[in-house]
Amino acid sequence: MGILYVVATPIGNLDDISVRARQILCQVDLIAAEDTRHSARLMQHIGAKAPLISVHDHNESARIEMLCERLQNGQDVALISDAGTPLICDPGYHVVNALRSRGLGVVPVPGPCALITALSAAGLPTDRFRFEGFPSAKRAARQGLLKTLRAETATVVMYESPHRIRYLLEDIVDTLGERSLVLARELTKTFETFLSGTAAELLALMDEDADQTRGEFVVMIGGHVAADDAREEEGAFGSTELLEALL
Ligand code: SAM
Repeated sequence: MGILYVVATPIGNLDDISVRARQILCQVDLIAAEDTRHSARLMQHIGAKAPLISVHDHNESARIEMLCERLQNGQDVALISDAGTPLICDPGYHVVNALRSRGLGVVPVPGPCALITALSAAGLPTDRFRFEGFPSAKRAARQGLLKTLRAETATVVMYESPHRIRYLLEDIVDTLGERSLVLARELTKTFETFLSGTAAELLALMDEDADQTRGEFVVMIGGHVAADDAREEEGAFGSTELLEALL
């Protein structure tokens, strides 16, 4: 029996491909890629020669039988997406689900993922977080989601396109007000930027500098801090100061 390797690929900097990912991509019999033309460049860069077939949102279910047959014939297959970890806001779920339910081997080859990369350097709490993927393109649905986050105490992470980033920030102003945010833009690329502030402050920055609206974004929203907790923190700080004054 062959194995399906789910291989993470770089989200910008091609040197972020792991040694293991490179080895596996160079040794499998077939590479199932979201966009074969896009991935051909990376395969050329690492010297992978296996044929590429497309597996994307519109043909994923239709590819399942063919991939199962290949695995049953002893061939190994790598599943990759355009960037980052397959299945994370990318195709692959139907294939992996079908293979697992048929008892076929699926092995993850971990590596870059925009949400984890963003969280690792944003400076927001990461002990608990909630990933919401791409918010809806429709304002009412987007605002509906944001309203459910008013009481969310975990850090919330979302993906957003440059075309909609301003709309999302405007809706955050309307629904979550002064909540602190971090925007991670163009991670691992030349113009990688982390911007912190309220949604209103970030919109003002974008008004001043249109470059801040370009590229790919991970939006991180700080969790809700209950008024009591905030008072407790202030109180604790106050009593420490008092203690220091007394010593
Ligand atoms: N599977 C990918 C992963 O592991 O992160 C995500 C794919 S999803 C289709 C693409 C979205 O991920 C972009 O619209 C953006 O929100 C985020 N993203 C991907 N690469 C990024 C980067 N270099 N910097 C910031 N965000 C990125």
